[in-house]
Amino acid sequence: MKGGEYFRLDPACLIKLPPDSELFMLPHRAPVGFDPETGRYEELDHDPGSRKREPCYAVAAFLAPGYTAVYSASYKEKGRPRLLPLFSYAAVAFYRGQFYAGGVRVDRERRQRLEGMDVGLIKKNVRSFRKVFPKNRLVRHLETCALVYGCPAAKNFFLKRYECPLPVSPTCNAMCIGCISYQPGGACPPVTQPRIRFIPDPEEVAEIALFHIRAVKDPVVSFGQGCEGEPLMAGDVLEEAVGLIRRSTAKGVINLNTNASRPDVVRRLFNKGLDSMRVSVNSLREPFYAAYYKPRGYGFKDVVASIKAAKRAGGFVSLNYLVMPGFTDSVEEADALLRFLGRMNIDMIQWRNLNYDPLAYFRKLNVRIERNAMIGMDTLIRKVRDEYPEVMHGYFNPSKQRIRRARTAKKDPL
Ligand code: SF4
Repeated sequence: MKGGEYFRLDPACLIKLPPDSELFMLPHRAPVGFDPETGRYEELDHDPGSRKREPCYAVAAFLAPGYTAVYSASYKEKGRPRLLPLFSYAAVAFYRGQFYAGGVRVDRERRQRLEGMDVGLIKKNVRSFRKVFPKNRLVRHLETCALVYGCPAAKNFFLKRYECPLPVSPTCNAMCIGCISYQPGGACPPVTQPRIRFIPDPEEVAEIALFHIRAVKDPVVSFGQGCEGEPLMAGDVLEEAVGLIRRSTAKGVINLNTNASRPDVVRRLFNKGLDSMRVSVNSLREPFYAAYYKPRGYGFKDVVASIKAAKRAGGFVSLNYLVMPGFTDSVEEADALLRFLGRMNIDMIQWRNLNYDPLAYFRKLNVRIERNAMIGMDTLIRKVRDEYPEVMHGYFNPSKQRIRRARTAKKDPL
């Protein structure tokens, strides 16, 4: 399904369900499938294998990091069900003893693969880091992220590899409908990771960033995490922390994941030594951006101004492009993306799944898209690669070596 339209799954859009993916049952949602005998899409209101006509439900796949959904699971809502929790819901199929999903691999790095994460070693390092950082509140916070919420970025910090998370901000100037760290309550789904409750000192931030940079061969450290609000709200702390890090070392990438709402702060951060910025957007069209982000005190023009400031400073800019099958690959959104790439000199697109109830997303954005206006995520990615071969594609914030490798290749290998 894409935006309420049903499709027969093309084998070319199916991948073997990647390791670390999860299967979800979707309550109050009946599966819809294509019946070759009637030639119609049929809703299953009970389990056809059960004599007692037991109910059955649709199933979706939450794809492992590095994979992007190209179709949502196919279902019909029964009544007015509660919103689905804040995850993504890719189509899943079962064929000859193997699960398949409607998805595409966009990043080959194993950064967040669970099989490389030795839980015993994480626990051991949590204990030893307590001795190394006895007073650092940020390390205590990351312990909870790693051990309670299973955050892969926090686990990687304790494993001394890849990208180190640097959450700083308890507040935000947006009210994204799919924010995983804040929901206003009522009928909204629960948060998956509550926000940090304090603003760390610049010294606490710099201490763990420098520790990670020195311990890892090709490191990245990143502001802007799932367990916080918007890091630009703590701009002074970021500025001082970046200054402290860069006074000690030029090694590694200092990255900012952000809503890019404050161009003046972005400018100051790049002046201090920030290397890259990943800007999250669900759409490159202002009305749909505003419907999802509900920005307060800033607008899409500030996002554009922040990107321009970063590029002027020589920074590396990624789009964290939040993908919803049927919307992202619609003709109009695809055109908006291609125009934006032409205008803004974006370095990379991170094709990330938007964690939101698929049907509710179209209702919230108040948009209906004709099925023949959905060109397909594979076609969209191909168009971008053809028109802008220099743009990198992926899922994770790239390290210096990864950027160097991509720039020496003519076209970024997916
Ligand atoms: S910008 Fe980020 S922190 Fe702020 S509401 Fe949106 S998802 Fe949440």
